Amino acid sequence: MLNVEHIGIAVRSLEESVPLFEKLLGVRSFKMETVENDRVATAFFQLGESKIELLESLDPEGPVGRFIARKGEGVHHIALRVDDIQKEMQRLREQGFAPLEPEARPGADNKLVCFLHPRDTCGVLVELCMERV
Ligand code: ZN
Repeated sequence: MLNVEHIGIAVRSLEESVPLFEKLLGVRSFKMETVENDRVATAFFQLGESKIELLESLDPEGPVGRFIARKGEGVHHIALRVDDIQKEMQRLREQGFAPLEPEARPGADNKLVCFLHPRDTCGVLVELCMERV
């Protein structure tokens, strides 16, 4: 694992939270992207080698929609950058962790991603991500 690639924050409205985070961080969002698979719209901010990802749900029954209904806005996941996601998923399976999907899949920001079940990681939803080539 290489570094914290980004921290994902669930928000009710990108329209309201993007200007707020621009004020907070002192940088403009460099990318907004809809990820149909995950039923979210996202906005990214670059902070050194890490990013902040804001996630607005497009569907109350989607993963972020259900998260907000249960817990409200807040930190949703931590994404760890890896250089070989297949190898890392295998290593983690051997260590007893449970990837939520059998295969890494395309996510936001040109990444292959895979999530680990938060019950294995002290309640923190962990995303592994690798740059797509
Ligand atoms: Zn993410």
